[in-house]
Amino acid sequence: MNKKTFPKGIHPPDKKELSKDFKTEFFPAPSTIVIPLHQHIGAPAEPLVNKKDRVLKGQKIGEAKGFISAPIHASVSGTVKSIEPHLTPSGKKIMSVIITNDGEDEIHPDIKPLKDDISSYSPEEVRTAVRDAGIVGLGGAAFPTSVKLSPPKEFPVDTVILNGAECEPYLTTDYRLMLEKTDELIIGAEILKETVGASKIYIGIEDNKEDLISLYAEKLKGRADFEVAPLKTKYPQGGEKMLVKAILGREVPTGGLPFHVGVLVQNVGTTYAVYETLKTGMPLIERGLTITGEGIKTPKNLSVRIGTMFKDIVEFSGGYAGNPGKLIMGGPMMGISQYTDNVPVIKATSGILVLPDEEIPHKKEYPCISCNSCVDHCPMNLVPTRIVKLAQNKLFEESKKWGLLDCIECGTCSYVCPANIPLVHWIRYGKNELMKLRKKSEK
Ligand code: SF4
Ligand code: SF4
Repeated sequence: MNKKTFPKGIHPPDKKELSKDFKTEFFPAPSTIVIPLHQHIGAPAEPLVNKKDRVLKGQKIGEAKGFISAPIHASVSGTVKSIEPHLTPSGKKIMSVIITNDGEDEIHPDIKPLKDDISSYSPEEVRTAVRDAGIVGLGGAAFPTSVKLSPPKEFPVDTVILNGAECEPYLTTDYRLMLEKTDELIIGAEILKETVGASKIYIGIEDNKEDLISLYAEKLKGRADFEVAPLKTKYPQGGEKMLVKAILGREVPTGGLPFHVGVLVQNVGTTYAVYETLKTGMPLIERGLTITGEGIKTPKNLSVRIGTMFKDIVEFSGGYAGNPGKLIMGGPMMGISQYTDNVPVIKATSGILVLPDEEIPHKKEYPCISCNSCVDHCPMNLVPTRIVKLAQNKLFEESKKWGLLDCIECGTCSYVCPANIPLVHWIRYGKNELMKLRKKSEK
């Protein structure tokens, strides 16, 4: 088997054995749901409901503002208890619609598919349905999908890559989805291909998931428009630029996106969400996630309503095992550390990872020893140590010249640094500060 890959990267322990064999369970909707009005890249949504309003499942409760934005929908039926700032996994308090669930799951009367035949949607109808459904990238980046499905005319897309790499250690929700919803994903990928006018679909799967590689190869035998692309298991293989390089040998230019080289990369969870919306008319109100780690009693793969609190999911999974040392939204490499489980699942929540205190290396930080390890492993060919030095000295424009904005925040440099320097933390800081400076100069 010809396994593809990209230069550099790392091989952290994948720990997928903790949860991979557990079938996706539906998490019963809890009595209270907290839905933040800003869950994605771009402008926040504006509330469309008031305190004490009755809302129905699937009802739009937040309107998208601007091109790069996405509407927000009620994930249960019930009554709006309040609209107030609530702590979210981003670490910030965000204006949120808090709904008391009436347990009826009464669906809003407008929820129905536009067409009975899912294959008869025009590209424009797909884009509109995806936008109205509030679908964003479910792999973690949460970029509005309708925008991704509208590449500029001067950059025609010839290839779709279905991203089934799931290279983050511990997480297995994409693996389960690919196993449990194979036919739906194939139809979803075909719809994406037609929407952007591509002619070929590659399904990228890492070779630690041999069963998926065989399953899809068998299903798609004789199909010239599909090809399964087995990938070497290496982090961050699931990064868009790494996938495009590994599968097609094309280089996404600095500051560019996959469409600049004729490619649409779509995560499998997002592809399934597109399929579901076109099939049923239901917007994005639920998503798959993995709750896992040595710090959780019963790791699971779950389908969870957006707005469910982390603490409810922890309880459903048997509670904490031992003393929880670290709670992370997402995986250990790119996830966001949480200081409380009193935060809701948002569209970007691909996992809840709990590491017990004894598993966390409490490492002391030392000065850089110029070993070059961060440079040798950076999949974007950057010089992390230089970017960070400049950011630490508040020379953000200079740091940008060294590729600050090209960093995909994969965490590889921090992982390999023998001096335990939190390089990616400093890179995020540099990016934030640069954005603040830009906004200031626009005023
Ligand atoms: S500099 Fe950015 S892209 Fe390179 S290894 Fe560090 S986090 Fe990853
Ligand atoms: S890996 Fe750490 S110690 Fe080595 S050069 Fe990079 S920042 Fe310095």
